Amino acid sequence: MQNLNPPTVDPDNTFEAIVNAKMGQRRNQLRTLTPQVQQRFSEYANCRMELARINPSPFNGGERDDLLHCYEVSTLPLSKLKASIRTAQRPNLQHVCQYCGFAPASGFDHYLAKSIYPEFSVNALNLIPSCSECNGLKDDKFLSDGSRSFVNFYYDAIPTQRFLFAYLIFTQGYPVVQFQLQNNGQIDLEMFRRLESHFLNLNLYVRLKQFSTSSIAEARAVVIANASPGDGATEIAGLYQTAANALFREFSPNHWKASLFEALSRSEQFCEMR
Ligand SMILES: [Zn+2]
Repeated sequence: MQNLNPPTVDPDNTFEAIVNAKMGQRRNQLRTLTPQVQQRFSEYANCRMELARINPSPFNGGERDDLLHCYEVSTLPLSKLKASIRTAQRPNLQHVCQYCGFAPASGFDHYLAKSIYPEFSVNALNLIPSCSECNGLKDDKFLSDGSRSFVNFYYDAIPTQRFLFAYLIFTQGYPVVQFQLQNNGQIDLEMFRRLESHFLNLNLYVRLKQFSTSSIAEARAVVIANASPGDGATEIAGLYQTAANALFREFSPNHWKASLFEALSRSEQFCEMR
């Protein structure tokens, strides 16, 4: 889990290009709405660091349908917008959903749901690459008791301190990993509360545990294949920790697989398995 680069495409120009790609009456209606939509884009940009303050959408009925049409019907400017958001990211993050950190980013989440804020359906600042499961679980949820429930990967400063930890347990002889969030006291309490609600709302404790099962088997196969014949549990643990350190460096201090490998290195029972 780590920050993404905010898109640098101009939302006003993108909206105008998408409107110009429409036909007939819909294009005329969208052109009529354009000044109001661009005013809302300005509001979004001004509130981007704390989107809980954004005003309710002024659009409904046919206006809402026209605005949703901008995202839901493919046009060349929309495809360019999506491509520009992806290519703004580091290559190793372009195709992975950061909401969960492991599934393919097959589409886009509207941080402010397009069903509630249809004017932001094609605003680049509101489009975050995500997997379908995270997108579905997030749905139109956004606030809980006035506070944001999900991390915004463009504008929330994701802590550089460790907060994602993994622990290995054995169930009926098989290794199973459990993930936990921990605040060592250095992470802002509001940010840590948002991380906790993010994990709970996206069912990440369960999904990470399930997804990790095959990774444990793969990691063990690779480490055993690369171990020397005389290596004991200490040497095997060192190989897992080396792999974890490489992933921490490549991604972030809170990369799920790095935390998993670290947990493997710390389990004497697991490292003794040959
Ligand atoms: Zn995801």
